[in-house]
Amino acid sequence: MDAQLHNSSNIISPARTTGYATQPPLQRFLADCYEEFRSDHSGAVADYIPELKRADPAHFGIGLVTIDGHIYEVGDSRVPFTIQSVSKAFVFALALELVGEERVSAAIGVEPSGEAFNSIRLTNDNRPFNPMVNAGAIACSGLIHQVDGKAAFARIHEKLSQFAGRELGVDDAVHASETETGNRNRAIAWLLRNYLVVQGDVDAVLDTYFKQCAILVTARDLAVMAATLANRGVNPVTGVQVIAPNVVARTLSVMTSSGMYDYAGEWIYRVGIPAKSGVGGGIVAALPSQMGLGTFSPLLDGHFNSVRGLKVCEALSARFDLHMLNRSSDVRTCIIADYDIFGIASRRSRQPHEQQILDDRHSDIRVIELVGALNFAAIDYVTRRLAGEPPNAPLLILDFRRVPDLTAAGAQLLGEKLTILGNAGVTTILTGVEPTSQVWSAIRDRVLEPRRLRRFALLDDAIEWAEDQVIYRYGGFTAQKETTHLGEQALLAELDPEEIAALAELSTMRRYEAGQRIISAGDPANSLFFLQSGMVSVKLPSGVRLASLGPGMEFGEMAIIENRRSADVWADTAVKCLELPLDAFADYRQLHPQISMKIMRNLSALLARRLILANAKVDLLSAY
Ligand code: GLU
Repeated sequence: MDAQLHNSSNIISPARTTGYATQPPLQRFLADCYEEFRSDHSGAVADYIPELKRADPAHFGIGLVTIDGHIYEVGDSRVPFTIQSVSKAFVFALALELVGEERVSAAIGVEPSGEAFNSIRLTNDNRPFNPMVNAGAIACSGLIHQVDGKAAFARIHEKLSQFAGRELGVDDAVHASETETGNRNRAIAWLLRNYLVVQGDVDAVLDTYFKQCAILVTARDLAVMAATLANRGVNPVTGVQVIAPNVVARTLSVMTSSGMYDYAGEWIYRVGIPAKSGVGGGIVAALPSQMGLGTFSPLLDGHFNSVRGLKVCEALSARFDLHMLNRSSDVRTCIIADYDIFGIASRRSRQPHEQQILDDRHSDIRVIELVGALNFAAIDYVTRRLAGEPPNAPLLILDFRRVPDLTAAGAQLLGEKLTILGNAGVTTILTGVEPTSQVWSAIRDRVLEPRRLRRFALLDDAIEWAEDQVIYRYGGFTAQKETTHLGEQALLAELDPEEIAALAELSTMRRYEAGQRIISAGDPANSLFFLQSGMVSVKLPSGVRLASLGPGMEFGEMAIIENRRSADVWADTAVKCLELPLDAFADYRQLHPQISMKIMRNLSALLARRLILANAKVDLLSAY
């Protein structure tokens, strides 16, 4: 627990004193707000609860917590004050989570009342208008009391503390003061008891309500609490899922329509951020998926809203155009690349006849690389990009490596589209998703033809798998060819039969089992290998695959120009190969210098081809 938070004299040196010039823009903006609005002494501290009169009108603090949990604070952001009505939003969320939507809406409405927060008037069917007025809030506390009895306050206290990310205190003097003078709330509670909205011990329910209003928070706490609502219930500072995500939108809805006393309409018109304020001088404002704001200044206007707090919220919204209804996005940016495999290939080197099939059928494999959080509109765009009758590529790879999130609506649309494609014979492969990821389960659960849906962690593996399907479909995999004749090796093209025979003579036959390492990165490079049967993969020590090779291909050939092995080579299957030691080769070369020329020319041609392929990939990606 942060000890500093309990130190009420801890006023952070404000504004433009230390390092203003190098501060992040948002910190500077808040510091500017603080400087500008602190000189506004209009308004008055609440006095209808005697103890609240003791508030220091000079206090002014601002906290802002981003969705990734960064905390900005200015002024008296760590000075505690009583939460008062701000608690209503969080206790409403708790009631929804605890007793469920049905019981809550049977007891409390969600219509703005158009009346003062402490109005005793109920709806025509004798329910409180909404949970943000006293009657509704007392009813919420009553619902929790029905479940927990005497422990109701403890549950509320614990929940609000989780929202704030630390254990909150209680102001006993304010609690006592309100208990003594809260006759109007008492009248409301008894009226609710009459209509059975409140059940059981009315005094105990009232005490729970009075005590929840006396919980001590700071502007910083309110910002963390707001950010938790903005983050679908996960406290972005502690990482704890504080409240069920499905109650968050309901809570923010009533904050939107009724959170700012009789100023709610103006507020949503001008500021456009769900918020709740309290007579202690606090305001919470939560902008979904963006940030949470907490302000504290006890000088209240005629609506009981904090004067300076309102100004901060208005300035923030105006400066950064944060009104929640002023949103737009270009869904087309969610596809950063859309290509078939023409000119690019997986890292598996193919036999010539296999490569021919892939060259002919390159448009059978379509790759779409997606980026960003994908929502309803973005996935709708993707599904339209996939339109076409009949579908033009039987193998579709959707790359999710750069997709942090897929909304439920996005998953639904995509699941439906992939089902349609599956029925038309298209197999979809998702890449960049782990088997345990939410994105994978969200899509898989919505695809009705799971046979037509596959998943790979790596895009390259998916392309290789898709290539295999194409080769298989067009008869390429009749039998893995063995090459026993060295003349078939690309590196040895154009060598005379005697030269080939001499090299064969100098080489030694080697056999490896699947999974065996043939070459280790870092070892001296003093031989090269001609693969006659089986498959090998060239990998970096990190595990990244550079190439997979089959019969008729050579590996370790870089030994001709390098002293040390730069990568590992592993046998993927049982492997048979010829190893040619370079020192024996060197002696032979002395006698037959023309062989060196031929081999170097072949090696240059091989390297040039690899470079062209690599450039094609780079080009393709930078074209988007
Ligand atoms: N405890 C206060 C009351 O019920 C809360 C009022 C408020 O902040 O709006 O009167």
